[in-house]
Amino acid sequence: MTIFTKIINREIPAQIVYEDDRALAFRDVNPQAPVHILLIPKKEIPTLNDLEQADTSLMGHLMTLVPKIAADAGIAEKGYRTVINTNAHAGQTVSHVHIHIIGGRALSWPPG
Ligand code: AMP
Repeated sequence: MTIFTKIINREIPAQIVYEDDRALAFRDVNPQAPVHILLIPKKEIPTLNDLEQADTSLMGHLMTLVPKIAADAGIAEKGYRTVINTNAHAGQTVSHVHIHIIGGRALSWPPG
């Protein structure tokens, strides 16, 4: 179990911005931009490498939520970046799949 499951279970606090039966979104505790939200499946999936065919609908659901959460945060029109880090080379620090939704300023590219 990771810290994100503890957030799902309300064992530790978070600034939750969206919730349904399959997904949760909350503010990143160490924001890299004015808006930095993490969108996670409630199902404990460690990394993208662990996805199974049965997760197709769940992951599609998460992607469909991204523009809604971005719009609610006021960043949809100007734009935002979505990032999913996988394992060490990408700097993944929490082993529970999460989509970073980052915006509120112009972002540089490419990433380091
Ligand atoms: P990653 O490096 O892609 O695994 O991203 C993990 C993210 O989780 C980082 O941006 C952290 O700032 C964030 N994070 C870690 N603990 C918490 C927490 N308790 N509440 C909110 N965000 C967190």
